[in-house]
Amino acid sequence: MIAKSKLIQDNRGLLSVELANIELKAPEFVYLALENARCPKAEALVKAGDRVLLGQKIGVRHGPFFDQNIHATVSGTVVGFEKHGYRNGKVVNTIKIQNDFKDEKDPSIVERSDEEVAKLSREEIAEIVKDKSMVGLGGSSFPTYIKFQTKDPINTILINGVECEPYLNADQRLMEGEVDKLIKGMHLLQQAFGTKDCRICVKEKHAELIQELKVAFEEDGGDLAVAPMQNFYPQGWEVAMIETATGIRLAPGELPAKKGIIDFNAASVVGIYDAVKYNMPVYERYLSVQGDGVVTPANCKLRIGTLLSEVIAQCGGYKGDDKKVLILGGPMMGSAIPTDDTILSKTITSILVLNEHPVEEHPCVRCGSCVLSCPAGLEPVNIMNAVKAVNKEAIKALQPLRCIECGLCTYSCTSGIRVTDYVRRAKIIAKL
Ligand code: SF4
Ligand code: SF4
Repeated sequence: MIAKSKLIQDNRGLLSVELANIELKAPEFVYLALENARCPKAEALVKAGDRVLLGQKIGVRHGPFFDQNIHATVSGTVVGFEKHGYRNGKVVNTIKIQNDFKDEKDPSIVERSDEEVAKLSREEIAEIVKDKSMVGLGGSSFPTYIKFQTKDPINTILINGVECEPYLNADQRLMEGEVDKLIKGMHLLQQAFGTKDCRICVKEKHAELIQELKVAFEEDGGDLAVAPMQNFYPQGWEVAMIETATGIRLAPGELPAKKGIIDFNAASVVGIYDAVKYNMPVYERYLSVQGDGVVTPANCKLRIGTLLSEVIAQCGGYKGDDKKVLILGGPMMGSAIPTDDTILSKTITSILVLNEHPVEEHPCVRCGSCVLSCPAGLEPVNIMNAVKAVNKEAIKALQPLRCIECGLCTYSCTSGIRVTDYVRRAKIIAKL
């Protein structure tokens, strides 16, 4: 089913596209990564020929700080092990499962009664989300259970539904389609952190969604709220979102919990609720497929482990004969991947399929545009020059580690210089 994409206008008259929803066929095969960036070693608990069930634990990843269980995202048969691309551009080992399209659930997927859920302590909720390998689904992949372990008293819970990069609206679709789970997940967070102040942050331009959420919160009893956000990028950056919602500006490197605030991505809230209520790990997610290089840009809901080549094919395939650039994440903060032979992991929010339009670089004219546009208050041009001069002391003094890689210095550069790439290199050098 394909609904139409539509143009919407914000309060400054700027236009953006809301993508159509498209229902894709479930994949015949899923490929589940063994190792990942945080956990470089892994062991499979299944072998070729084994039958597996939806939600079954089929492997464990080992990292220096924590382990992560791997769960089947379909029911079916293990075919074997194959190498495919991962979101960081590297090739990883995967467990290949042939889908039997029955979605037969593992016996561990047992629903808790509302009474049982209401009695869970924060520690017990943390254990459940840890067992289900819940991570930040907005792209951070930060293990969720660690957030539940904060020792700081929490007064305010913010749900990040800002999704501030241009073009993307998979989270918006999630907030529209899963409002019941979103509400229950927000109540679960209130219970865990012992505070009533729980607000969901949504850009002002999504007036319809804000109204729907307000009505749903009112019908629910009225102790959840919407915090309207401004229509600028990077409003979804944790620091900017917290400042708009509460008036509190975090110091560089300061954790929100130190100011009594904790925040979760909207998709993560739904994932936390599914883990706690149904004992179900994240097995599917909303994804935006966007760009001038794909026939039908759309939002879709997909099984984790689907190959992106299959996603693009189901969105009508590649458009045009130009060389394609594939970017995971938005156009500002996303990172390029070398191949569509890449698996959908839990934390991929979007894929941009762009026809390559090379931008000619000119010498820096010291216009200062990159400095003015940096939300972290850095001096990107000076960082770039320090990198070119291989001056480690100067690089460190310019504090590139505060960079949030928003991409605005590249976007605003009047000479077409990829300034953000230099700042990324400076971050690596500063850590050595
Ligand atoms: S990417 Fe550039 S503009 Fe964005 S925070 Fe880093 S240095 Fe600043
Ligand atoms: S925006 Fe580009 S041209 Fe202007 S100072 Fe920064 S690097 Fe130089």
